[in-house]
Amino acid sequence: MIEVKNVCAGYGRNQVLHDVNFVAEQGKITVIIGSNGSGKSTLLKALLGLVPVNGGNITVEGAAVNEMTRAELAKKIAYLPQGKNIADISAGRMVLHGRFPYLKYPRKYREEDYRIAEEAMKQMGISSFAGKQMAELSGGMRQKVYIAMALAQQTPVIVMDEPTTYLDIGQQLKFSGLIKQLSESRKTVILVLHDILLALKISDKIAAMKDGKIFRCGTPEEMLASDIFYTLYGVKVKAVQTDAGMQYYYEFADTE
Ligand code: ADP
Repeated sequence: MIEVKNVCAGYGRNQVLHDVNFVAEQGKITVIIGSNGSGKSTLLKALLGLVPVNGGNITVEGAAVNEMTRAELAKKIAYLPQGKNIADISAGRMVLHGRFPYLKYPRKYREEDYRIAEEAMKQMGISSFAGKQMAELSGGMRQKVYIAMALAQQTPVIVMDEPTTYLDIGQQLKFSGLIKQLSESRKTVILVLHDILLALKISDKIAAMKDGKIFRCGTPEEMLASDIFYTLYGVKVKAVQTDAGMQYYYEFADTE
């Protein structure tokens, strides 16, 4: 669980987050949405202790983020940044990197680290291409490697910034399943998504940001019942019950 209380943060004199309050619960998928420049990435950076917090406080599993060392925090939160550069290493090696916070000097992987990395690969169904170079893999497979790396990190919280950007539609659907799996295994999952329809479909809670503040926060149903998507993006979102569960679609205001 992550709790953000009255947080103000930013870059030097450029204050970006203003009195942000936000809770991401264990075993739940919390999605952050908002237009470009609304402060989503800055909020993630604040969670990770990467931007200074000048007011309020952030706790992860009850411990203050600003009192933790990098390694301590890396044992609590696994972070998958946006648009990663593709490392020139094998998938197996990439997953092993998740064990880095646990290594003591001289930073040599132990038997246990190899075992945990292998388990994470098995869980993601990627054991068979552990020897393949990252650059050889499709976007979807690479995403699975990153998630396996996050699993090997054995953190209670996983944070992903725009994880579906490089995935085709089939891979996006599979990705939703993987994310559900993570929350069902009691992880706290926080995602930044541009895709509102995906956010509605997979989240337990949506936090909508505007001008460095949480503008509105609620369940998908609550958000759908409000005018938030029109306020933020000028679109209306409708829901329809189907055999495959609730489906969402856009309805542009001027077509009504
Ligand atoms: P989002 O992720 O919602 O697009 P960001 O958190 O990236 O928004 O940006 C919010 C604001 O913070 C923007 O006005 C942006 O210009 C500013 N900002 C982002 N990164 C930096 C930085 N490294 N230094 C100074 N200002 C920044």
